[in-house]
Amino acid sequence: MKYLTAATRLLRHSSRNLFDRRFNLKAFGSIRPSSSGRNYTSLRIYEQFMQDDYFHRKIMSKNFCFLRGSGVGILHCLGKFQNNGIGTHHRNLASTALIPERNKSFATINSDDISYFKKVLGGRGVVQDEEKLDDANTDWMRKYKGSSKLMLQPRSTQEVSQILDYCNSRCLAVVPQGGNTGLVGGSIPVHDEVIINIGSMNNILSFDKVSGILVCEAGCILENLISFLDNEGYIMPLDLGAKGSCQIGGNVSTNAGGLRLLRYGSLHGSVLGLEVVLANGTVLDMLGTLRKDNTGYDLKHLFIGSEGSLGIVTKVSILTPPKLSSVNLAFLACEDYLSCQKILLEAKRKLGEILSAFEFLDINAMDLVLKHIDGLRDPLPSSKHNFYVLIETTGSMESHDKEKLEAFLVQAIESELLTDGVVAQDINQASSFWRIREGVPEALLKEGATYKYDLSLPPEKMYDLVEEMRGRLGTTSNVVAYGHLGDGNLHLNISTQQYDDSILAKIEPFVYEWTSKQRGSISAEHGIGLMKASKIHYSKSAETVQVMAAIKKVLDPNGILNPYKVLPTSVLSQSGRHQPNKD
Ligand code: FAD
Repeated sequence: MKYLTAATRLLRHSSRNLFDRRFNLKAFGSIRPSSSGRNYTSLRIYEQFMQDDYFHRKIMSKNFCFLRGSGVGILHCLGKFQNNGIGTHHRNLASTALIPERNKSFATINSDDISYFKKVLGGRGVVQDEEKLDDANTDWMRKYKGSSKLMLQPRSTQEVSQILDYCNSRCLAVVPQGGNTGLVGGSIPVHDEVIINIGSMNNILSFDKVSGILVCEAGCILENLISFLDNEGYIMPLDLGAKGSCQIGGNVSTNAGGLRLLRYGSLHGSVLGLEVVLANGTVLDMLGTLRKDNTGYDLKHLFIGSEGSLGIVTKVSILTPPKLSSVNLAFLACEDYLSCQKILLEAKRKLGEILSAFEFLDINAMDLVLKHIDGLRDPLPSSKHNFYVLIETTGSMESHDKEKLEAFLVQAIESELLTDGVVAQDINQASSFWRIREGVPEALLKEGATYKYDLSLPPEKMYDLVEEMRGRLGTTSNVVAYGHLGDGNLHLNISTQQYDDSILAKIEPFVYEWTSKQRGSISAEHGIGLMKASKIHYSKSAETVQVMAAIKKVLDPNGILNPYKVLPTSVLSQSGRHQPNKD
């Protein structure tokens, strides 16, 4: 009786509500992957959204940034905001004391250097145009800004090798750059480092239709790879909101996680091989395409997640999974965080092998997205909920998957874990649900300044930190939480009007100490970059950091690759960096 009442209550919420149709399998409208496994082919005309022409246009428009499958980059989109003077402005770091001093052993660019680079790359590969440099000097969050006077755009491994060989001999510091969507200040120069942008190396080199192994250059944009694979009946094992701009080389170098890690694991598993150019120009050919290869140390793993501090990734070989025919997406609401955790556990148990994503956002994140992202609507409009969860299943047999999902949802409502929910009926609804989750970083950017933390924590502890943070900050800021709950990854964001040292002092080091006490990680997936280089000890022992510094010294003795990032400068100087020969 109790369950029936709960179901009846939910029934009233919305005609699209999943509980309306709990005994009707057809209600779980078929959602078939068309490209990424999350870009859906519509099977019906969906009157509800079609009625709103504006909304429909936004969802369908190929020019609308951030949409899954849009093919348009985030930076392009943000550029428009900036040009219109809407929403985003460049903001400096709250405290310039956080920026390490320029290392005096690095040389500065002179006219001979420019002539050399022009000889190697031709005029088009040597960028000195101020506007282009301004973009390349500024990070996605508009938080960090360097002052590089030169960006190089090599087109081949050979060119990367020649550039690095030269820079190393001159002791010119460099910063490797991909799509510049990184969130920790790793992809932009801190001072006047030469930017080496890999975007012109964007060829797909081979694809094996039987094994699913893709080999491509590092500058390929993730979304382009997703589209390519779609035509071949495969998907990329990673997917993230920045896919329209980020590059596979950047993904590998940050060991990007994203929305599919739950199902397909990290890039340490899917990347089979890499080609990397070391600081002195040596090309390491580790571009294997073998699943099994136990010959000596597997050096490619050193470069996965090394954030451009050990070498420049120029080619990637990656194992891609086949595209499966049946995809379902549920957007659910919970009263409390404990229910979210219980649903996660149940989803793992009941959905098992078909569970492909489990994401969450809290009410503050939801409010921000609905406030700032044009064309989005609350899928559960009848009331506000404290937490929202997105559950995606991907499988090969539609009837089986629907049956499983339905059984899981019925049980979740009977156990009173859900307060509301809806299952996407088509491509448009699915895209708009994903857009809600993926739109949070953009919404935060439009709201003002954000202190952003990307933490791995035991799921049962995650939200305690959010609540403690709210207690510390009171009404001075908006504490917003979302993330990859299925992977134990919390994105904790403190949104304020502007960066302010007094607010920062309440957040740090508290947030790092708290995470460290739980034996969590202060960087689950975004990396260390500039933002957390001096904080690495909260997650790694002194001995481990020393070994990292020793490896850095072997591979990059002059320290020219992405200086001031990843490792504390103090540890690197202790490890006895060679004094460079500037002649
Ligand atoms: P960049 O930002 O250009 O560079 C990142 C780092 O890698 C820098 O240290 C740079 O020096 C280095 N680098 C780049 N290319 C190379 C190369 N070829 N060789 C060596 N070093 C290189 N991240 C996640 O993990 N999961 C998410 O779900 C996620 N969602 C995001 C959503 C949004 C809206 C945004 C803006 C970002 C998100 N990110 C996420 C962060 C970011 O997109 C990823 O870190 C991405 O992998 C960076 O790729 P990129 O090409 O933009 O690299």
